[in-house]
Amino acid sequence: MKRAFKVTSGTELRCLGWRQEALLRLLENVLAVGENPDELVVYAALGRAARDWPSHDAIVHALKTMREDQTLLVQSGKPIGVLQTHANAPLVIMANCNMVGQWAKAENFYRWEKENLICWGGLTAGDWQYIGSQGVIQGTYEIFSRIAERHFANDLRGRFILTAGLGGMGGAQPLAGTLANAAILTVEVNQASIDKRLKNGFLQHQAKDLDQALAMIAAAQQRKEALSVALLGNAAEVYPAILSRGVVPDIVTDQTAAHDLVYGYVPAGYSLEQVAAQREADINALMDASRRSIVQHVEAMIGFMDRGAVVFDNGNLIRTHAHQGGVARAFEIPIFTEAFLRPLFCRAIGPFRWIALSNDSNDIRVIDDYLLQRFADNRIVSNWITLARQHVPFEGLPARIAWLGHGERTELALEVNRMVADGRLSGPIAFTRDHLDAGAMAHPNIMTEKMKDGSDAIADWPLLNALVNCASMADLVAIHSGGGGYSGYMTSSGVTTIADGSAAAEQRLQLSMTNDTSTGVMRYADAGYQESLDEIAEKSLPYISLPRGEQR
Ligand code: NAD
Repeated sequence: MKRAFKVTSGTELRCLGWRQEALLRLLENVLAVGENPDELVVYAALGRAARDWPSHDAIVHALKTMREDQTLLVQSGKPIGVLQTHANAPLVIMANCNMVGQWAKAENFYRWEKENLICWGGLTAGDWQYIGSQGVIQGTYEIFSRIAERHFANDLRGRFILTAGLGGMGGAQPLAGTLANAAILTVEVNQASIDKRLKNGFLQHQAKDLDQALAMIAAAQQRKEALSVALLGNAAEVYPAILSRGVVPDIVTDQTAAHDLVYGYVPAGYSLEQVAAQREADINALMDASRRSIVQHVEAMIGFMDRGAVVFDNGNLIRTHAHQGGVARAFEIPIFTEAFLRPLFCRAIGPFRWIALSNDSNDIRVIDDYLLQRFADNRIVSNWITLARQHVPFEGLPARIAWLGHGERTELALEVNRMVADGRLSGPIAFTRDHLDAGAMAHPNIMTEKMKDGSDAIADWPLLNALVNCASMADLVAIHSGGGGYSGYMTSSGVTTIADGSAAAEQRLQLSMTNDTSTGVMRYADAGYQESLDEIAEKSLPYISLPRGEQR
């Protein structure tokens, strides 16, 4: 059966209540905007919305038939049962891809994935929170802005950014680059990924070869014009080629799906068909080929760094694989979270987003107007909303992302709930966030690298965060761990709460938004970050401050 992937509009319900309907629409949405919906893949190489099609169909059936006082259990994308709980309990709770410590290895993941025992939910795929490339765009833009402040007198006009990967998340890079006024070249090995970003407006041009790409970038730099160009090619070959010509970009990063050596990264010299064949023939040989290629790729990044470029890892484990392949200097490249965003996370300012469930883009504009007026003094938010409403196209259900922090998220969510109740909005709104958020992720090579107290690999925090969100009556709560190359590298939690205009939603939003960000601030306070301790004092958070214990 050929499936159609589309979003549902309007306010007619197919479920017994708006909360169930909302989660069903979010599931439809991640497939409608996903990278390979026929295989239930949403983004990040293998991040799936459900284990398989029978599981998907059973989830849809459960959402359509369950009552408000029930809770659907999902284990790695497969529905397990609908439990009797109560109307204030989450409607859906999930555990996706959690493997026991010593067993949490890529080779076990691929084996169990094949045996249909497990599936990877990515961060926002398995729990139906993905909103297309927009989900990461403000984060990418904020990184470029921090680099501009620190290294380029707050001005990226005339500056050259080199990156790679135009997939679900990487596809945000060209638009984030032009919004930051830079000239950005993105290398991508799959023509279909380039076509998708050209079509959805995240990318302006494709060059026919490297000569033309570099000439277009140089001309834009000369004119100090913002420009985005894609080049079809393999980054492990193109980066060294640029380096050998003596061209040094101002900023270099990479967002290929390098975390996954089997399904994500394409080794140099391989066509997409050859990768697919090798995957069937010999997974270990494919992993070796990807790792060898990543070595060349990262050696070129270090070469750019040695010649003065600002180089950073964009959260895809590329340094880790390079290091395992023998690149001793790989970790001289900083990770974006620690280098640029940690002061924001210390105050639980992170990738918060909301989705218009009736599919009416005017709802997003009404909320934009409110934000611009209410948060006029918040430079990050007002600057972003002004840019986003002009330049960021909607994909699937209309959605917006804004890096709001503790208290701000609650205030917005409660006002939106009132807007739904009094008819200023045409339908309910879902509030959610990326897992890459203050209290929600332990990932020692991305989110929690070089924590002040050395707590990089302590996964209690995201687990506590998920428990807190259950206790705070969120509508959906998920605990995820890494799959593919991320196996054994991360644990994170996801949360979604629906503003349907009801008094019950008001309580759910009040508790879940407030407690979610509270645990984020407390996590960083516990690690000793002064910004978090200040936030706790300024906003009277109920943190129990103990003197640092003696070492045992
Ligand atoms: P994706 O699988 O949707 O896309 C990856 C793209 O990289 C594909 O288009 C693929 O063709 C291309 N590619 C693979 N190997 C290549 C090579 N050697 N040269 C050039 N192009 C190549 O993945 P995605 O959702 O875009 O995520 C990309 C990476 O970013 C993942 O590792 C993901 O986990 C990570 N990520 C980071 C953040 C963040 O906040 N920084 C957020 C989400 C995801």
